[in-house]
Order: sequence, then C-alpha cells, then structure tokens
Amino acid sequence: MKTQTDPHQILTLKVVKFIHNRDMFIGDFHIHSKFSDGKMTIPEVVDFYGQKGLGAIAITDHLCETNTPIGIAAHYLGKTLTPSYYPIYKELIQSEAERAWKQYKMVVIPGYEITKNSISNHRSAHLLVLGTSQWIDAKTDVVEITKLAHEEGALVIAAHPVWTRKNEKQTYYLWDQRDLLSPHIDAWEMCSGTTLLSEVVHSKLPKIANSDLHRKEQYHSWKTVFHCAKESKSILQAIKKQQISFKLC
Ligand SMILES: [Zn+2]
Ligand SMILES: [Zn+2]
Repeated sequence: MKTQTDPHQILTLKVVKFIHNRDMFIGDFHIHSKFSDGKMTIPEVVDFYGQKGLGAIAITDHLCETNTPIGIAAHYLGKTLTPSYYPIYKELIQSEAERAWKQYKMVVIPGYEITKNSISNHRSAHLLVLGTSQWIDAKTDVVEITKLAHEEGALVIAAHPVWTRKNEKQTYYLWDQRDLLSPHIDAWEMCSGTTLLSEVVHSKLPKIANSDLHRKEQYHSWKTVFHCAKESKSILQAIKKQQISFKLC
C-alpha cells in the first residue's frame, strides 16, 4: 500500500531548500590590521569576524604613496605596507583564508587600500583593491590602477569618497572626478560606519557598504548582504553586478 505524503510537508521542505540555496551572508571588505594602522593582527581579525558569523571579509591595509610628506610619515611610522613586507602580508592572508574557511566557512579576500594623501582633501584619494595578488605602487594614476586591477580580475572601490561626517582627514578627489572616473571604479562606499553618506546613496553609482574597521568597537556598521555562492569570484561578481543589499549590523 502506498503512503501519501502530506502536501504541507512538501511545501515546508521546498521552502527550507530554497532558503538554503540562496546562501545569504554578510560581508565587510574594508578592514585594517597591524600591517598598517589597525589594532588587531590578521589572525585576530579572522577570529573576530569568524565568531561574528560573517560569510566574507577583505583585509585592506594601507598602501601609501612615498612621494608625499604624509606618505613618507606613514612609512616612517610603519603605518603602511611596503614592498618588502608585502610578500609576508600576502602569504599570511592566504594561510589565514584557508583557516577561516575550515574553521568558520568564511571567505577571506586579499586586498589593500591604496592611500593617496595630500595636504589638500581635494587631492586625496583612497582606493580599495579587492582580490589582488600584485603590488601596485600607490603613485600610479587612478585610471591606470583600475586597469592593472581589472586585468587580474580584482575590483576597485572608492573608499569614503565624500565627507565622512567625522573629524578626520577627508578624501574628495574621486568624488570631484566622478564623471571621469565612474566608468573605471566598480563600487563607491555609501556609508561611514553607521552613517549613510546621502550623496552616494542618492547617486546612480554602484554601491558597497563596509566598516573601515581599525578597532573592534568600529564593528557596528552598514555592511553588504549577498545571495550568491560563498566564494571569492562570485562575491566580486555580485558587487560588480550590484546583486547585493545592505544591512546595519
Ligand atoms: Zn581610507
Ligand atoms: Zn581604511
């Protein structure tokens, strides 16, 4: 005799499967470690975010220009990646990415924040390069940086491109030049911690939400939500195609 399956049970199973397949997870792609001016080591960053249950992060330490007074100071103070430290940084991110996946099912994307700091805010620009494995000299012209990054499948993000509503150094160059640069830049940060940056939010530019975390206390922030496969390529594609949403958490 055949047993009949309860139709409600089938529906429940379908819904569960649907939710499972959507692979919803949260990412944060602007995080500093002790390799520049962050307070945690890279393994500490991985454990901190892994224990919070995030699905993906990027380590983005400063890679400063060496031809400006502020850049020279950053080098002198050890607040920037240097060509000699970069191989160690890269190797550590790779081994921590393997551990993060095994231990937390969290993807760790290698990156850095190209930091062009001038005395003038209007000549200053910070660019996140996500998914890179090459050293790019921070003196390189912005469009050239985007070309080099795109050649290896990396993304370039305009970091805090407008007034951050905080008493800190501002970086307006990318926003001032947005008509010229927007075809080259993959996404623009639309928040500064918990504050939405209305200029970016109300623009038609592609967006991303990150914490720019230097200390644990800066964790609470707008972040980016994904419904794609939890692996580096799909995550970068989702940002590029703007198949993302945003959440304050
Ligand atoms: Zn920055
Ligand atoms: Zn930063």
